[in-house]
Amino acid sequence: MDYFNYKDNELYAEDLKVSDLVEQYGSPLYIYSKATLVRHMHAFEDALKDNRHLICYAVKANSSLAILNLMAKMGAGFDVVSKGELARVIKAQGDPKKVIFSGVGKTRDEIKYALECDIKCINIESENEIDAIEEVAQSLNKVANVAVRVNPNVDAKTHPSISTGLKNNKFGIAFSRALDVYKRIRDSKYLNACGIDCHIGSQMTSGAPILEATDKLLELYHKLKDENISIDHIDIGGGLGVTYGDETPPSPYEYISAVTAKLKEIDVAIYIEPGRAMVANAGVLATKVLYLKNNENKNFVIVDAGMNDLIRPALYDSWMNIIEAKKNNDSKILCDVVGPVCESDDFLGKERKLSVKENDVIVVRGAGAYGFSMSSNYNSRPLCAEVMVDKDKVSLIRKRQEIEDMWALETICDD
Ligand SMILES: *Cc1c(COP(=O)(O)O)cnc(C)c1O
Repeated sequence: MDYFNYKDNELYAEDLKVSDLVEQYGSPLYIYSKATLVRHMHAFEDALKDNRHLICYAVKANSSLAILNLMAKMGAGFDVVSKGELARVIKAQGDPKKVIFSGVGKTRDEIKYALECDIKCINIESENEIDAIEEVAQSLNKVANVAVRVNPNVDAKTHPSISTGLKNNKFGIAFSRALDVYKRIRDSKYLNACGIDCHIGSQMTSGAPILEATDKLLELYHKLKDENISIDHIDIGGGLGVTYGDETPPSPYEYISAVTAKLKEIDVAIYIEPGRAMVANAGVLATKVLYLKNNENKNFVIVDAGMNDLIRPALYDSWMNIIEAKKNNDSKILCDVVGPVCESDDFLGKERKLSVKENDVIVVRGAGAYGFSMSSNYNSRPLCAEVMVDKDKVSLIRKRQEIEDMWALETICDD
């Protein structure tokens, strides 16, 4: 459920008309609903209220300072995958002590920064990385809290590009190696094993894969216990799917309570790393229609947002719902909605039925996750503005990039 709804044929973001926001802030424009973000955070909190827990919002889904700050105020922790994301969390007044650090390619510089910030836990993704963390911790004379991200070889049954828990994915340490890896950690003065971690994929629309993974984590927990290695938390990662079209993912409550039921017998804190489920439906991308055109047997609606603003359709062939900001009763045409970028894959939607004309505003729903955070300057197009709506109030949380900003770091070579 979200707070983007029609009233009298006009699409509203909470109490404000989307078309007015575009008039005021320009197009294309990312619009977020605060009430939706709050609602989603509460849904996760509610599902975990009977357990010790930490909700680590996956920053890469949407790393806007305003969104991170809102999450921090609601008590969230954060899952980061780079020094830049950790620095963003701190800039947004997030608590580094609630941060966990994932990713297969952490540099020594990133590890050093994480240890200096006293983050909660580093999720180790390879055996070589253990040596790097140990070396850096020793140089700082600190003990690094770590969890091993195990690869449980479970099929998340999602798009191949966003599946991460299979043997042939680059993520995590093979399940069969996990016990030896924990023994290696136990034998180090500079490492402390605090948890077991996994993250098997994204946009999962069934709870079955995570339950299969949880069984594996539980099995490992007991093996570790037999070796006198006691673990304080189990992290089940992120990956809960959302409804873009006709998907019917479980609710956060259904998804998480099935996991907590399995872990009831042991005394651990439960960590989760939701990204998409927290922010996707809390954001839309509004864009203006530039031209309508017909090439022989195909209609195109050309809009001013391109794949540089929202790459999911081009990158993953994702279907995202596209609706009119003003509903009308004119007849609809079957069309492809495409952007101005010079690539045939630059589309937002194919074979849609829309009734639009030049200068109308259309809206891509579910664009709050992996929307702005994946945007780029391709074709030298400035990054979009972003606004946050809170009932009848709106805040510009990111100004539209100026043309000059795009080359601010560049120089021409001397002759
Ligand atoms: C991307 C990612 C997440 C978030 O995944 P969602 O599908 O957005 O919930 C969580 N943990 C890790 C390690 C990730 O890489």
